[in-house]
Amino acid sequence: MTTSRRHSNSRRNNRRKNNKKTIVPHLVVCSNCGALTPSHRVCTECGYYDGKLVIVKKIKEKKTAKQ
Ligand SMILES: [Zn+2]
Repeated sequence: MTTSRRHSNSRRNNRRKNNKKTIVPHLVVCSNCGALTPSHRVCTECGYYDGKLVIVKKIKEKKTAKQ
């Protein structure tokens, strides 16, 4: 890569503002928890996809305080 700055930031942003495809996901309502989540993606809220639990969210285990 010889040069990275082919255009100014302004020109780059001006070009990108017309490409909303990359930014706006197709939102669907999760069948499990009802949250809006991108389609064909595991739900970001509950970790379910296609009615199955895909991602088990890690719950921080609090270490019991020393007595
Ligand atoms: Zn969900």
